[in-house]
Amino acid sequence: MNALAATSRNFKQAAKLLGLDPKLEKSLLIPFREIKVECTIPKDDGTLASFVGFRVQHDNARGPMKGGIRYHSEVDPDEVNALAQLMTWKTAVANIPYGGAKGGIGCSPGDLSLSELERLTRVFTQKIHDLIGVHTDVPAPDMGTNAQTMAWILDEYSKFHGYSPAIVTGKPVDLGGSLGRDAATGRGVLFATEALLAEYGKGISGQRFVIQGFGNVGSWAAQLITKAGGKVVAVSDVTGAIKHSNGLDIENLLKYSVKNRGIKGFSGGDAIDSNSLLTEDCDVLIPAALGGVINRENANDVRAKFIIEAANHPTDPEADEILSKKGVCILPDILANSGGVTVSYFEWVQNIQGFMWDEEKVNSELKTYMTKGFKHVKEMCKTHNCDLRMGAFTLGVNRVARATLLRGWEA
Ligand code: GLU
Repeated sequence: MNALAATSRNFKQAAKLLGLDPKLEKSLLIPFREIKVECTIPKDDGTLASFVGFRVQHDNARGPMKGGIRYHSEVDPDEVNALAQLMTWKTAVANIPYGGAKGGIGCSPGDLSLSELERLTRVFTQKIHDLIGVHTDVPAPDMGTNAQTMAWILDEYSKFHGYSPAIVTGKPVDLGGSLGRDAATGRGVLFATEALLAEYGKGISGQRFVIQGFGNVGSWAAQLITKAGGKVVAVSDVTGAIKHSNGLDIENLLKYSVKNRGIKGFSGGDAIDSNSLLTEDCDVLIPAALGGVINRENANDVRAKFIIEAANHPTDPEADEILSKKGVCILPDILANSGGVTVSYFEWVQNIQGFMWDEEKVNSELKTYMTKGFKHVKEMCKTHNCDLRMGAFTLGVNRVARATLLRGWEA
């Protein structure tokens, strides 16, 4: 099922549980604005290259729209639309005063030089600068983008509107970025996992984890889980997959992957087929890469007891049904990976206040938000007698619906 169909299906199920007015349901589903722009840049060799960039602004009932910008070959309008919608529910679950948005450029960032990436980012910013803003839409990093990308957006945007550090989050600390933002999604995954396991009388320590993806989210989650006493027994990235039943040496794996641009060839474990990673024997499976990876093809073979969705929409609704019958407990994306956007909110607050927090404050506030999010989702599960995904969706959708009704429609 494609990402938009899957996300909309979850939304509609939540709307039904909440008994939402069908007209309100329709209005919440349709994006506020969809932007599609052509971005042509001269390549380093003098030839021209054209790319298509998107920004979907889904909803702003609770505040400025918020969400990352993704550089990936598979970026398409439907996927960006689905991801923007997920951001609306995610910011509401986290209870931060934002709506949802997402952007992306269909490109393979690994095939572009640093200066080509800079030109592409600046052209994209030129095309959307009038439609984003500190109090309207605030971009952030996502797959294939990072703090440097945000620095270029900040610089380009500031040429039109004056110096505005709060226009993006996830920027370098030297430009007003927040301490702890780089690790925030992974750290949030750790806090959410702790909260979930505690319900079963378990802790991180002694549990065996499998992590798909060793980018920003996966590598931070792996480091923090190891530090908390968990055993990361298998990891994959685009270059390959590796396993060690006694636990991988994550610190060395990280050094290796930075040096070799991937984990392939690491000698501290056995290479395995990337396709079999999700069905490896473990207690906790953490998909931290692309969407739709757990589907009806492989859901029956999943051996984990818990799935923590560090990626956005990694589990297809068809797989959800299969896994629920198998008794696998899934912590949904809009709660599990909300640590990134939550610290983005702290960064934006610091920029607006002109005051910098220390890392301890950032991390302890993040823990408070993640723990509260989990608690509120559990309450919705009780109220609606539903699983954690529907608990999170009903929580998010209900908060957005309430804000929308309060603001009204009078023209
Ligand atoms: N890209 C991240 C996400 O999917 C972070 C978004 C943000 O910080 O605005 O949640």
